[in-house]
Amino acid sequence: MVSKRIEKALEGNSAIRAMFEEGKEMAREFGAEHVYDFSLGNPATPAPAALNNAIRALLDESDAKEGGSLALHGYMSNSGHEDVRAAVAENLNRRFGTSFDFHNIIMTVGAAGGLNVIFKTILNPGDEVIVFAPFFGEYCQYAANFDARIVAVRPDEETFEPDLADFAAKLSERTKVVLVNTPNNPTGVIYKPQTMERIARILEEKQREIGREIYLVSDEPYRELVYDGSREDFLTKYYKNTIVGYSFSKSLSLPGERIGYVAVPGEAADAENLIRGIEISNRTLGFVNAPSLIQKAVARCLDERTDVGFYDGNRRLLYEGLTRLGFDCVKPEGAFYLWVKSPVSDEGAFVDEAKKYHILMVKGSAFAWPGYVRLAYCVSRETINHSMEAFAKLAAVYGLKAD
Ligand code: PLP
Repeated sequence: MVSKRIEKALEGNSAIRAMFEEGKEMAREFGAEHVYDFSLGNPATPAPAALNNAIRALLDESDAKEGGSLALHGYMSNSGHEDVRAAVAENLNRRFGTSFDFHNIIMTVGAAGGLNVIFKTILNPGDEVIVFAPFFGEYCQYAANFDARIVAVRPDEETFEPDLADFAAKLSERTKVVLVNTPNNPTGVIYKPQTMERIARILEEKQREIGREIYLVSDEPYRELVYDGSREDFLTKYYKNTIVGYSFSKSLSLPGERIGYVAVPGEAADAENLIRGIEISNRTLGFVNAPSLIQKAVARCLDERTDVGFYDGNRRLLYEGLTRLGFDCVKPEGAFYLWVKSPVSDEGAFVDEAKKYHILMVKGSAFAWPGYVRLAYCVSRETINHSMEAFAKLAAVYGLKAD
């Protein structure tokens, strides 16, 4: 019999699982080209050629060495290869003016692995993790892994930036972590520098009041997926006690390779214990270390990017197409998601109606903000183009007015 924790997780999982199965079933019945699946955040552009070339070169180079690939495939420090961590530190310092060295960087099994090792290192049972709704639903599982509690802050519904009055009100003596994700999944919004500055000031004040640190954890899988000239940001500059969790899943289209890192600035409170704690957590959670070959490969591709222009093209087509049909959409500034207001208050009914036209999307309630849906536009250009007729039929059901 499964544990109580997993029993709960199984219940929560069934809706997304069901949709996944439904999508596959639809594709079988109607043909994949007649199904417009906007449900999954799986990259739609291949990894840069330099990445595969780096893997090939690494294998050839190691074969040519004495001992062959023993070192390449061997155990290492639980924090990862030192040369890889040094390369990441140097890259961040050059791009963002930070002052990391290798020991501030711990290689992780993607952002999911990174967040879990951070949480294990910081959280005691009953501690609170503040998140800004709408948010990536997996955060609830990650917090539950360590018996911590998620406390959600409401957004400003005009901008989908956090409602800072609600944020200040939700901070408490039990708050240990504030988790921020910008560019955001599911809204595509990038929090403005002024917003981050205000979050930092509120946190500093609360730290003084409760007499201990509150860590800001920045979940950054979409850092480089920004549009319209938005600048890539790095949040340690706003607040001293910031820990960054990064992933190459989206920026290099490598989600299956499970590679990312955590950066802990030296000026963060208790930094050395955090770094050692994260290293231990990487081991004791069973990751041991991030996969070796892909660590070495990404270290050679830190300035490479997936095809951001491709996502930008999809973003424009989908946003402009749906807006023209009368849907109320938040214009995405980053990531690869479009956040759309449901024309009826029960967004579940809207999602079900859309399925009749073979459009698959995710309910806002999966991101703790009902009344909206998320469309992942990391799909082929054809999917977007071909879906427009189906969206037009869907708009007509609700009497939406085209421009
Ligand atoms: N955080 C957010 C906001 C995400 O959207 C995702 C994946 O979609 C993750 C974390 C997990 O990323 P990874 O594949 O690096 O574990």
